[in-house]
Amino acid sequence: MANPLYDALFAPLAGRGDGVLLLPGGGTITGAEIAAQTARIAGALGAAGVTAGERVVVQVAKSPAFLALYGATLATGAVLLPLNTAYTAAETGYFIADAAPRVVIVDPARAEAIAPHAAAAGAQVLTLDAAGGGSLAEAAAAMPATFAPVARDADDLAALLYTSGTTGRSKGAMLTQRNLLSNAEVLADLWGFGAEDVLLHALPVFHTHGLFVATNIALLSRARMIWLPGFDLETLIAEMPRASVLMGVPTFYTRLLDDPRLDRTLTAGMRLFVSGSAPLLAETHRAFAERTGQAILERYGMTETNMITSNPLRGERRAGTVGQPLPGVELRITDPETGRTLAPGETGMIEVRGPNVFRGYWRMPEKTAAEMRADGFFITGDLGVQGADGYVTIVGRARDLIISGGFNIYPKEVELILDDQPGVVESAVVGVPHPDFGEAVLAILVPEAGRAPDLGAIRAALAENLARFKQPKDILIAEALPRNAMGKVQKAELRARHAGHFTKGT
Ligand code: AMP
Repeated sequence: MANPLYDALFAPLAGRGDGVLLLPGGGTITGAEIAAQTARIAGALGAAGVTAGERVVVQVAKSPAFLALYGATLATGAVLLPLNTAYTAAETGYFIADAAPRVVIVDPARAEAIAPHAAAAGAQVLTLDAAGGGSLAEAAAAMPATFAPVARDADDLAALLYTSGTTGRSKGAMLTQRNLLSNAEVLADLWGFGAEDVLLHALPVFHTHGLFVATNIALLSRARMIWLPGFDLETLIAEMPRASVLMGVPTFYTRLLDDPRLDRTLTAGMRLFVSGSAPLLAETHRAFAERTGQAILERYGMTETNMITSNPLRGERRAGTVGQPLPGVELRITDPETGRTLAPGETGMIEVRGPNVFRGYWRMPEKTAAEMRADGFFITGDLGVQGADGYVTIVGRARDLIISGGFNIYPKEVELILDDQPGVVESAVVGVPHPDFGEAVLAILVPEAGRAPDLGAIRAALAENLARFKQPKDILIAEALPRNAMGKVQKAELRARHAGHFTKGT
């Protein structure tokens, strides 16, 4: 019986006696070993009462066993709900209450703290540690090494991924088998993936980038993965010579650039560097090309839609843009107020439609309806502009838009100028309450180590390039910007931190 995603990603592993997961330092795990472990874990989940359509919460360290656990949820027809290991027990409790899972899998050290939340939802707690031990592993060891996957339809749910939710309650995005498989197929083809590829996998697996973009593409194309527990610069550099592709968030690339060992020799065996999840500065793109001779390929997507656009494998990878819509994915830019489709070159809301777009928010029909147009386009909440040649530039999140004295200000426009100034590493521009203007533009600058940027010169550069209403009312200096695990600057956090800046006269 068919189970499209399992059949495409996990079924082929049984016939692969070669190392599919390459571990840092030299160990390997063969496809056949992963297949056997997947079957055993599927057996254990079944014994714990997991049936098709039920949620399985997974909050464990990234380990080889995680991959088998992912396969096992697909084999049983369950809905995988992976969670950031950094969440506290109380935060995890919210997801458990909301998703009503059958089973919650956590590190043994967390089992006690999670138990009351699981009990309240009627879920069983199983454990899995970073070394592959725990009650789930013990139960799995007693199970057969084969498992007949449960039949699933392409429109059945495969995963429930909660959005990072910087404001309000985090929402569960319902992702179907079709959403995930169609996107993996398109990307594997577009990025030229094949069995000879070795993907350097240093991303977390609780997020769409590491879990679906990276893992699904590699499994689908029968590539190998160097499976790293997380991002560690030393390990990344040590492993790069045996890899062919790296997928990372922009921070990976800025960290690599900070290291003098990044050069053409180190990257000689690499055919592709992909960046996404947060904006890659054009400056980073240029600096990386200068050092390595390779242009980073930037793509854009989100939890709800999987990937939407990509720069090309062959053709111009244009710095500061996220490339063109993927084959089969329709994109339009609309007026955020009226929903009217705008002309090329005009800035507005990015809307998207295609087999990649999720089914809706878990148990939030009104939120789903609010973000979905009647004709099936999803309102991403990202503001952007598309050129006549199809290339898309992201201008920022709609909720980050600043309205000062009745004028709209796109933070990115101001940030790009600030980032260009001597002595400035990066910047963030936010709107904060102002007694006169409603909101005022506030800039936060991160200077180069040991350098004090010339604020007078910076103000002059801003005045030269921007209308007065767009110029920051004040500029602050900070050592670093607050970022989440995916390298996204936390603007809500900055707004909260500086909320009283103009109202308290500080
Ligand atoms: P998430 O759902 O956590 O993957 O976050 C999705 C959001 O990340 C998008 O809506 C964008 O705001 C942002 N994002 C993802 N990729 C890019 C990119 N290449 N450039 C700019 N923003 C991006």
